Amino acid sequence: MRVHVADHPLISHKLSVLRDASTDSPTFRRLTEELVTLLAYEATREVSVEPVEVTTPLTTAEGVRLTSPGPLVVPILRAGLGMLEGMQRLLPTAEVGFLGMIRNEETFQAETYAERLPDRLDGRQCYVLDPMLATGGTLAMAIDFLVQRGAKEITAITLLSAPEGIERLERDMAHIDAPINLFSAGLDERLDENGYIVPGLGDAGDRLYGVVD
Ligand code: URA
Repeated sequence: MRVHVADHPLISHKLSVLRDASTDSPTFRRLTEELVTLLAYEATREVSVEPVEVTTPLTTAEGVRLTSPGPLVVPILRAGLGMLEGMQRLLPTAEVGFLGMIRNEETFQAETYAERLPDRLDGRQCYVLDPMLATGGTLAMAIDFLVQRGAKEITAITLLSAPEGIERLERDMAHIDAPINLFSAGLDERLDENGYIVPGLGDAGDRLYGVVD
Protein backbone atom coordinates (compact mmCIF):
# COMPACT_ATOMS: atom_id res chain seq x y z
CA MET A 1 0.00 0.00 0.00
CA ARG A 2 1.29 3.45 -0.88
CA VAL A 3 0.66 5.99 1.86
CA HIS A 4 0.71 9.74 1.17
CA VAL A 5 0.31 12.20 4.01
CA ALA A 6 -0.27 15.73 2.72
CA ASP A 7 2.44 18.27 3.36
CA HIS A 8 0.97 21.62 2.42
CA PRO A 9 0.38 24.68 4.63
CA LEU A 10 -3.16 25.23 3.31
CA ILE A 11 -4.11 21.66 4.14
CA SER A 12 -2.57 21.96 7.62
CA HIS A 13 -4.41 25.24 8.17
CA LYS A 14 -7.81 23.84 7.17
CA LEU A 15 -7.21 20.67 9.18
CA SER A 16 -6.38 22.74 12.28
CA VAL A 17 -9.73 24.54 12.02
CA LEU A 18 -11.48 21.17 11.64
CA ARG A 19 -9.84 19.90 14.81
CA ASP A 20 -11.02 22.90 16.81
CA ALA A 21 -13.94 21.78 18.99
CA SER A 22 -15.57 25.20 18.60
CA THR A 23 -15.85 24.94 14.78
CA ASP A 24 -19.54 24.75 13.87
CA SER A 25 -21.08 22.16 11.49
CA PRO A 26 -21.50 24.48 8.46
CA THR A 27 -17.83 25.49 8.65
CA PHE A 28 -16.79 21.89 9.27
CA ARG A 29 -18.70 20.73 6.17
CA ARG A 30 -17.25 23.49 3.98
CA LEU A 31 -13.68 22.83 5.11
CA THR A 32 -14.11 19.08 4.64
CA GLU A 33 -15.13 19.67 1.03
CA GLU A 34 -12.22 22.04 0.44
CA LEU A 35 -9.74 19.58 1.96
CA VAL A 36 -11.04 16.72 -0.16
CA THR A 37 -10.71 18.78 -3.34
CA LEU A 38 -7.09 19.53 -2.44
CA LEU A 39 -6.39 15.89 -1.59
CA ALA A 40 -8.19 14.67 -4.70
CA TYR A 41 -5.88 16.72 -6.90
CA GLU A 42 -2.96 14.57 -5.76
CA ALA A 43 -4.96 11.37 -5.37
CA THR A 44 -6.08 11.46 -9.02
CA ARG A 45 -2.60 11.99 -10.41
CA GLU A 46 -2.71 8.50 -11.93
CA VAL A 47 -6.31 8.50 -13.06
CA SER A 48 -6.61 6.64 -16.39
CA VAL A 49 -6.74 8.83 -19.48
CA GLU A 50 -6.49 8.14 -23.19
CA PRO A 51 -5.31 10.34 -26.05
CA VAL A 52 -7.86 12.40 -27.90
CA GLU A 53 -7.62 14.91 -30.74
CA VAL A 54 -9.31 18.23 -30.00
CA THR A 55 -10.36 20.79 -32.60
CA THR A 56 -9.45 24.23 -31.34
CA PRO A 57 -10.69 27.45 -33.03
CA LEU A 58 -7.34 27.48 -34.91
CA THR A 59 -6.28 23.90 -35.52
CA THR A 60 -6.19 20.55 -33.81
CA ALA A 61 -4.36 19.60 -30.62
CA GLU A 62 -3.45 16.38 -28.89
CA GLY A 63 -5.32 16.11 -25.62
CA VAL A 64 -6.51 13.44 -23.20
CA ARG A 65 -9.83 12.34 -21.77
CA LEU A 66 -10.79 10.02 -18.93
CA THR A 67 -10.98 6.44 -20.14
CA SER A 68 -14.23 4.56 -20.14
CA PRO A 69 -15.42 3.06 -17.83
CA GLY A 70 -14.50 6.04 -15.71
CA PRO A 71 -13.54 6.19 -12.07
CA LEU A 72 -16.02 5.22 -9.38
CA VAL A 73 -16.27 7.31 -6.23
CA VAL A 74 -17.48 5.45 -3.14
CA PRO A 75 -18.30 7.48 -0.03
CA ILE A 76 -18.73 5.35 3.07
CA LEU A 77 -21.95 6.40 4.79
CA ARG A 78 -22.49 8.39 6.79
CA ALA A 79 -19.42 10.57 7.30
CA GLY A 80 -17.95 9.90 3.83
CA LEU A 81 -20.95 11.67 2.33
CA GLY A 82 -19.51 14.94 3.61
CA MET A 83 -16.51 14.36 1.31
CA LEU A 84 -18.45 13.64 -1.87
CA GLU A 85 -19.05 17.19 -3.07
CA GLY A 86 -15.35 18.03 -2.75
CA MET A 87 -14.45 14.97 -4.82
CA GLN A 88 -17.09 15.64 -7.47
CA ARG A 89 -15.72 19.13 -7.95
CA LEU A 90 -12.65 17.49 -9.53
CA LEU A 91 -14.34 14.44 -11.03
CA PRO A 92 -17.80 15.67 -12.03
CA THR A 93 -18.39 12.81 -14.47
CA ALA A 94 -17.40 10.02 -12.08
CA GLU A 95 -20.09 7.54 -11.14
CA VAL A 96 -20.88 7.32 -7.44
CA GLY A 97 -21.56 4.11 -5.53
CA PHE A 98 -22.49 3.96 -1.85
CA LEU A 99 -21.41 1.73 0.99
CA GLY A 100 -23.14 2.04 4.33
CA MET A 101 -20.88 0.83 7.11
CA ILE A 102 -21.04 1.31 10.81
CA ARG A 103 -18.55 0.55 13.51
CA ASN A 104 -19.84 -1.58 16.36
CA GLU A 105 -18.78 0.58 19.31
CA GLU A 106 -18.18 -2.47 21.53
CA THR A 107 -16.20 -4.71 19.21
CA PHE A 108 -14.95 -1.92 16.88
CA GLN A 109 -15.81 -4.33 14.03
CA ALA A 110 -17.24 -2.80 10.84
CA GLU A 111 -20.69 -3.94 9.70
CA THR A 112 -22.24 -3.29 6.27
CA TYR A 113 -25.86 -2.06 6.39
CA ALA A 114 -26.31 -0.70 2.84
CA GLU A 115 -24.69 -1.14 -0.54
CA ARG A 116 -25.35 0.46 -3.92
CA LEU A 117 -22.52 -0.45 -6.27
CA PRO A 118 -22.22 -1.87 -9.78
CA ASP A 119 -22.12 -5.69 -9.72
CA ARG A 120 -18.83 -5.72 -11.61
CA LEU A 121 -15.99 -3.23 -11.29
CA ASP A 122 -13.52 -4.85 -13.69
CA GLY A 123 -10.89 -2.41 -14.86
CA ARG A 124 -12.25 0.44 -12.72
CA GLN A 125 -10.31 2.78 -10.52
CA CYS A 126 -12.19 3.36 -7.27
CA TYR A 127 -11.86 6.29 -4.87
CA VAL A 128 -13.14 5.46 -1.39
CA LEU A 129 -14.05 8.38 0.86
CA ASP A 130 -13.97 7.98 4.63
CA PRO A 131 -12.80 10.85 6.84
CA MET A 132 -11.27 8.83 9.67
CA LEU A 133 -8.92 5.86 9.30
CA ALA A 134 -9.06 4.73 12.94
CA THR A 135 -8.84 0.96 13.57
CA GLY A 136 -8.93 0.35 9.82
CA GLY A 137 -11.79 -2.17 10.03
CA THR A 138 -14.22 -0.17 7.90
CA LEU A 139 -11.76 0.71 5.15
CA ALA A 140 -10.33 -2.82 5.07
CA MET A 141 -13.84 -4.21 4.59
CA ALA A 142 -14.72 -1.61 1.94
CA ILE A 143 -11.52 -2.23 -0.02
CA ASP A 144 -12.04 -5.98 0.15
CA PHE A 145 -15.60 -5.52 -1.11
CA LEU A 146 -14.43 -3.52 -4.14
CA VAL A 147 -11.60 -5.92 -4.92
CA GLN A 148 -14.03 -8.87 -4.84
CA ARG A 149 -16.05 -7.06 -7.50
CA GLY A 150 -12.98 -6.69 -9.71
CA ALA A 151 -11.73 -3.13 -9.05
CA LYS A 152 -8.36 -2.59 -10.72
CA GLU A 153 -7.00 0.01 -8.28
CA ILE A 154 -8.29 1.51 -5.05
CA THR A 155 -7.42 4.86 -3.58
CA ALA A 156 -8.71 5.73 -0.12
CA ILE A 157 -8.96 9.40 0.83
CA THR A 158 -9.13 10.30 4.52
CA LEU A 159 -8.87 13.46 6.55
CA LEU A 160 -7.04 11.85 9.46
CA SER A 161 -5.33 8.49 9.83
CA ALA A 162 -4.04 6.66 12.89
CA PRO A 163 -0.85 4.55 12.74
CA GLU A 164 -2.87 1.55 14.02
CA GLY A 165 -5.28 1.85 11.09
CA ILE A 166 -2.51 2.09 8.53
CA GLU A 167 -0.80 -0.98 10.02
CA ARG A 168 -4.05 -2.92 9.94
CA LEU A 169 -4.68 -1.99 6.30
CA GLU A 170 -1.15 -2.94 5.35
CA ARG A 171 -1.58 -6.29 7.05
CA ASP A 172 -5.07 -7.03 5.76
CA MET A 173 -4.34 -5.87 2.22
CA ALA A 174 -1.04 -7.74 1.86
CA HIS A 175 -2.69 -10.55 -0.12
CA ILE A 176 -4.39 -8.20 -2.60
CA ASP A 177 -2.78 -7.84 -6.02
CA ALA A 178 -4.55 -4.61 -7.01
CA PRO A 179 -2.65 -1.42 -6.11
CA ILE A 180 -4.00 0.24 -2.96
CA ASN A 181 -3.23 3.89 -2.18
CA LEU A 182 -4.02 6.01 0.84
CA PHE A 183 -4.11 9.82 0.76
CA SER A 184 -4.61 11.50 4.12
CA ALA A 185 -4.59 15.16 5.14
CA GLY A 186 -2.91 14.23 8.44
CA LEU A 187 -1.37 11.38 10.41
CA ASP A 188 -2.15 11.45 14.12
CA GLU A 189 -0.49 9.91 17.17
CA ARG A 190 -2.68 7.00 18.21
CA LEU A 191 -6.12 5.64 19.06
CA ASP A 192 -7.63 5.99 22.51
CA GLU A 193 -9.37 3.15 24.38
CA ASN A 194 -12.65 3.97 22.60
CA GLY A 195 -11.07 3.73 19.15
CA TYR A 196 -11.00 7.50 18.62
CA ILE A 197 -8.10 9.14 16.88
CA VAL A 198 -5.95 11.29 19.21
CA PRO A 199 -5.61 14.26 19.03
CA GLY A 200 -8.15 13.85 16.21
CA LEU A 201 -11.23 15.92 15.61
CA GLY A 202 -13.87 13.87 17.42
CA ASP A 203 -16.68 12.00 15.69
CA ALA A 204 -16.56 13.16 12.07
CA GLY A 205 -20.18 12.15 11.36
CA ASP A 206 -21.47 14.05 14.39
CA ARG A 207 -19.42 17.11 13.53
CA LEU A 208 -20.67 17.08 9.94
CA TYR A 209 -24.31 16.26 10.60
CA GLY A 210 -24.97 16.52 14.32
CA VAL A 211 -25.54 13.79 16.90
CA VAL A 212 -28.24 11.27 15.95
CA ASP A 213 -29.20 8.88 18.74
N1 URA B 1 -14.44 7.81 13.72
C1 URA B 1 -14.53 9.15 13.98
O1 URA B 1 -15.46 9.81 13.53
N2 URA B 1 -13.58 9.71 14.76
C2 URA B 1 -12.54 9.02 15.28
O2 URA B 1 -11.70 9.60 15.95
C3 URA B 1 -12.48 7.62 14.99
C4 URA B 1 -13.44 7.04 14.21
